[in-house]
Amino acid sequence: MSDTIAAISTPIGEGGIGIVRVSGSRALEIMRKVLENCPEEVLPRHAYYGKVRDEAGQILDEVLCIYMKAPHSYTCEDVVEFQAHGGTLSLRRILREVLRAGARMAEPGEFTKLAFLNGRIDLTQAEAVIDIIRAKSEVPLMLAEDQLEGRLGREISSIRRELLDLLSQMAVNIDFPDEDIEQFAYEEFILAIHQCLEKTGRLLLTAEEGRIARDGIRTAIVGKPNVGKSSLMNGILRQQRAIVTEIPGTTRDTIEETANIRGVPIILTDTAGIRETDDRIEKIGIERSREELARADLILFVLDSSEALSPEDREIAAELAGRRVLVLLNKQDLEGQLREKEIRALLPEAEVLRTSLLEMEGADPVIEKISEMFLSGMSLRQERAIVSNERHRDALCRAEASLQAAEQLLTAGEPLEIAEIDVHAAYDALGEILGETAGDEILDHVFSKFCLGK
Ligand code: GDP
Repeated sequence: MSDTIAAISTPIGEGGIGIVRVSGSRALEIMRKVLENCPEEVLPRHAYYGKVRDEAGQILDEVLCIYMKAPHSYTCEDVVEFQAHGGTLSLRRILREVLRAGARMAEPGEFTKLAFLNGRIDLTQAEAVIDIIRAKSEVPLMLAEDQLEGRLGREISSIRRELLDLLSQMAVNIDFPDEDIEQFAYEEFILAIHQCLEKTGRLLLTAEEGRIARDGIRTAIVGKPNVGKSSLMNGILRQQRAIVTEIPGTTRDTIEETANIRGVPIILTDTAGIRETDDRIEKIGIERSREELARADLILFVLDSSEALSPEDREIAAELAGRRVLVLLNKQDLEGQLREKEIRALLPEAEVLRTSLLEMEGADPVIEKISEMFLSGMSLRQERAIVSNERHRDALCRAEASLQAAEQLLTAGEPLEIAEIDVHAAYDALGEILGETAGDEILDHVFSKFCLGK
């Protein structure tokens, strides 16, 4: 018999209500033990009021208790929820009684993992649950809800079904080779692979937009000291500051803040500087800044337009070649020295904007411009699946590469057996997205991101 697990499912802290959740075959038995005066017959999805006492008979809290009968529950197992007053101590003590009655502590994400293992949701939907919990902006939330609804999973499953058909036809041809049929079949196979490639290609086309929409526009602010970088950061954060996102396990020297632009997160970093230096400590800071710069989607290069272009400015500009850059010619309220032509000569691909960041409102045109650069073409709310998760994109890329290899082999008239290996690899890669062919390592990685009680 598998374990019956339990955890506090609401956040630790003071709250109106707190929930202890129990899942497993012993859930009902535990409810009967823990809830005082629990009736003989417990109806599913009915609320039962009662007290919970500890071993010594001391009242711990009064609770509402709800039983959800398998398979109609979050985990597909029998689930019981104790709704108590939301105090850390009282919930902990109720949990202790539940554990004493026969449950074991759940691991982070274990309830959702059960929903996945029991086949109620696929891995993309499980990942959507954590994305919903984590979402700090509207667009990532919308993407996660679409994913939970199962759109991406269905699309991947449908490609997989086609590949499975293809694999079984290939197997027939391999086992019973017949010259005439084989000749015909080759073209059929190539066509089928081609059709799958179109579908994976369409999905991958959404990946770049999807990544930005889900994870945000990573934006690095660069420029020599005193040009207005902090003023810019404050201006953007002024109204749009998002709920602060603490990324566990990261300590950084660069200042990182998150804001929202039209519901999409923008992650701003003020980089320490990227100039050459002999100072050891400064070198580390510069290394960090360089890394930050390397992974930025957008670089905001701030210049003081009241001064002539300096060697330092030129050094920074040289680092930015080939990147997506928005140059801000700041301090427009002052007498001008810097000529736009000079900077355009240095960074011909960059967008250029004149700003005055003395007042907070001065950042508004910058927000407008970023929105225009990244969001105006976004077409996410269409009735189609969107790939927004790096893990999915990676697996899709591998599936695509395998299918391309299979297509080439067949086009070159290589034996079916060889092409079949690649088609199989594509089938497995897509299965990883759904979790069907994902090893423990992948599953552990996905579910380790969950909080306790989910
Ligand atoms: P950072 O060192 O690049 O972060 O620059 P700050 O944002 O700290 O700005 C340096 C100084 O320039 C501050 O005194 C700001 O008030 C001022 N400043 C920023 N933007 C403007 C602007 O557009 N015009 C003028 N006149 N001063 C500005």
